[in-house]
Amino acid sequence: MTDINLHRSVELFAPAKINLFLHVLRRRADGYHDLETWMQKLDFGDTVELHLRNDGLLGLVCSDPSLPTDRSNLAWRAAEEFFSADRRGKGYGVDIRIDKRIPVAAGLGGGSSDAGSVLRGLNRLFDNEFSRAELCAMALRLGADVPFFVVEDDAVVAEGVGEVMYPAQSLREYHVLLVNPGFSVSTRWVFENLGLTRTLKESKLASFRKDAPALPSLGALSNDLERVTLAQYPELASIKDNLLEAGAELALMSGSGPTVFGLFSDLSTSAVEVRAIADRLKRKFGKMVFVARANGGA
Ligand code: ATP
Repeated sequence: MTDINLHRSVELFAPAKINLFLHVLRRRADGYHDLETWMQKLDFGDTVELHLRNDGLLGLVCSDPSLPTDRSNLAWRAAEEFFSADRRGKGYGVDIRIDKRIPVAAGLGGGSSDAGSVLRGLNRLFDNEFSRAELCAMALRLGADVPFFVVEDDAVVAEGVGEVMYPAQSLREYHVLLVNPGFSVSTRWVFENLGLTRTLKESKLASFRKDAPALPSLGALSNDLERVTLAQYPELASIKDNLLEAGAELALMSGSGPTVFGLFSDLSTSAVEVRAIADRLKRKFGKMVFVARANGGA
């Protein structure tokens, strides 16, 4: 064990994400899909605490009893990934404590965010040993969405299987109303049922980048995965309709679903009005409804 003056513990906010746009470009020969997506972090999320230990072991506790507390938890694998690359932490281990608020398998990136937080937190405890690029390489080995939770940007556009990211415009002046219907959807199932007919779509990425001349109209944004999930769960279409009727500028499913979100501009809807809409939707659908801001918790 290297004798270094380390901080012993750290607490991190692990934000949920929404996909403001998700475009499936093609199915690749290796079975993965090339995507284009505009991802936005929210101020709604989990809390991840890390406590270093001196015995080289890993430990994990999670407030959600349905989640695994061993190697099959992505946060655990993130710690393994960090320690196997680490040059200073030989002999150290970590206890991870996750306070789970992000619904699981909901299209909100919960597991990826917890994993990204573990990488960021361990790097902080080990005196920023790794560059952001090195952390992103570790993150990508854990999953396509994990690098987004390692970088500082509130919003990115990502392409490929998530390995290429550019800072994107962040919708900080919007309220985000999330409606989770209370069941989970497997991302793998959605992709297996996508049945892509076209093999190549034209990239629209440039218009979403931070340096783009103008923000595209939000109403024109779409998620190619809705086709599969909405066909199976028609109530999601009804939630979308209700959000639009309530004045949302955009109502879309996030990721592979099933969470649906509505965007309400500060200019048109006050925080009090958004709360009232949330209460109404909760009464109508009896589901988990959350109000958030698109600022990654900053
Ligand atoms: P994905 O698109 O990666 O499936 P998602 O946001 O839809 O993301 P997650 O909440 O990350 O879904 O959960 C996906 C799966 O990952 C679940 O089956 C869950 O058991 C597993 N998992 C492993 N670790 C975690 C974690 N820390 N938090 C949530 N889920 C986790």
